[in-house]
Amino acid sequence: MPIDPLPPERPEAGEPLPPVEEVRPGLWSIPVPIPDNPLRYVLVYAFESPRGPYIVDAGWNTDDAWHTLVAGLATAGFEVADVQGVLVTHIHPDHYGLAPRVREESGAWVSLHPADAELLEHRYEDTTALMVAVDAMLRRHGAPAEEISGLTEASLPMISRVAPGRPDVLLEDGDKPDVPGWDLQAVWTPGHSPGHLCFYEPANRLLLSGDHVLPRITPNISYHPQAGPDPLGAFLASLDRVGQLLTDEVLPAHEHRFRDLPGRVAQLQAHHEARFSEALAAIADGIDTAWGIAGRFTWSRPWEQITGFMRRAAVGETVAHLRALEVRGVLRERVGQPSHWEPAES
Ligand SMILES: [Zn+2]
Ligand SMILES: [Zn+2]
Repeated sequence: MPIDPLPPERPEAGEPLPPVEEVRPGLWSIPVPIPDNPLRYVLVYAFESPRGPYIVDAGWNTDDAWHTLVAGLATAGFEVADVQGVLVTHIHPDHYGLAPRVREESGAWVSLHPADAELLEHRYEDTTALMVAVDAMLRRHGAPAEEISGLTEASLPMISRVAPGRPDVLLEDGDKPDVPGWDLQAVWTPGHSPGHLCFYEPANRLLLSGDHVLPRITPNISYHPQAGPDPLGAFLASLDRVGQLLTDEVLPAHEHRFRDLPGRVAQLQAHHEARFSEALAAIADGIDTAWGIAGRFTWSRPWEQITGFMRRAAVGETVAHLRALEVRGVLRERVGQPSHWEPAES
């Protein structure tokens, strides 16, 4: 269950959350904490409407996050019981986790893209088959035997951070969610998750970018059993798409608002191109398993300090690069235990 980015820089620990802010008339940004995670908080956005507020993302399911969300809505002048809709950008616990609880308190609908909705059951309810598939994936990609069970189970604590429940509304690319007074449009941006949605608001030239585009860190794009055949290829195509939108400002789900979307898209694309070069250089040096290549990549901290879920995400990210190069016809996988990667024409 890949959750979130492996941050290249560690955000400063112990800083207070940013304030609740009105970022446009009737549109509020509400930080909700995600403890024990370097991202520190998710930014929930609340849209005022004559019917009551609509929120984008909800935070994860802990009492601390819940109380902060309720207090943040109150600062903005809203009651949680009046929330009409929860537009969730993607399936990860820091976004979807509290959505069913908001619905319970308010009767709001909860929306998600169908490609993420169909993953809920095996990710958060009956995880047996998924755990078997993750175990097999780690073996195939060269994880040492003694690390496999720990890495496979690293995501299990996350399950309690997602309140049980399915979405009421499925939003597809181009759909306009029913948020009175706002011209919101769903933009399907698969990559970070198969059903990731951004929300575009053309009247204010705003993009609510979820985890698809963040201002400082690179979203984690992992290959894993629920990621689809080529998540990084999908992500790069999704970057091209949002890079075309006319925006004055981007409202991401983590970190802070920023203005230059095309510039940030170009940086993220360059980061992945550099990663492709690193992978090819490693293979040329005879390091040809995903595990070995992950250990050679430049991360924000030494490989030995990347443990548990972060390590699994790093391996998934490495495989995502190898898969994308396979789809481009550059590499091929000699499938085995572990698989070895080699130039496609050798
Ligand atoms: Zn995420
Ligand atoms: Zn997130």
